[in-house]
Amino acid sequence: MKLTFLGTRGEIEKRTRRHRMHTSLMVSYRGADLMIDCGLDWLGKFERLHPSAIVLTHAHPDHAWGLRRGARCPVYAPEKTWQELQHYPIKDRHVIDERTPTKICGITFEAFPVEHSILSPAIGYRVSAGRCRIFYAPDLILIHDRIAALKKVLAYIGDGATVTTSFIRKRGKALIGYSPVRAQLTWCEKERVPIAIITHCGSEIVTSDEPKIVAKLRAMAEEWGIEVALACDGMQLELHGKRSDPG
Ligand SMILES: [Zn+2]
Repeated sequence: MKLTFLGTRGEIEKRTRRHRMHTSLMVSYRGADLMIDCGLDWLGKFERLHPSAIVLTHAHPDHAWGLRRGARCPVYAPEKTWQELQHYPIKDRHVIDERTPTKICGITFEAFPVEHSILSPAIGYRVSAGRCRIFYAPDLILIHDRIAALKKVLAYIGDGATVTTSFIRKRGKALIGYSPVRAQLTWCEKERVPIAIITHCGSEIVTSDEPKIVAKLRAMAEEWGIEVALACDGMQLELHGKRSDPG
């Protein structure tokens, strides 16, 4: 499985050379190129990447608004996301049901609900190809069924909106916002995920001295035996094989 971090910028004003485009990941396997999320920065631009299909996590501007003039390829999204994008001129639309493995061009996607926004409910995807498995959740506070979501996952790709400070607000019974990277690393530790890659970078990362942040993250992750990396636009990663669990 090959991963290409097409974009790594969150919903912030600032953009830099390393984090220029809205967060999007291309997952490639045996000739198929599946693009996860297509935010506004990609409007009029994603076509040149020739994705085999596009899969959406939620309907926020930095994740879906690049599709507002439609797409020539099939687009997959949960029902709740489609409700918000009804008026988009997308012809080839497919619904992804939560917790139902869906095979798209040879790559299996399973949607897990995550807590993030009331108006635009979000999901994270467990993506499997061959023996390799990742979990991708660019925007979240928590994964509702974390144990199942991270089962046998080799790499967790998570939300860099904040590194150490929580941005979580209560709205009635629900929570909205993001969990800091620190909290996400503890999930990896608990579910024995050996690799964590941070994308969807917020201003804490984008406006700071990145090597310093990376050093801080490594120090946190090291004691738990997790390898952590900060993604930047254009970063590529080849993942092989499966996670080897003791016992
Ligand atoms: Zn976002």
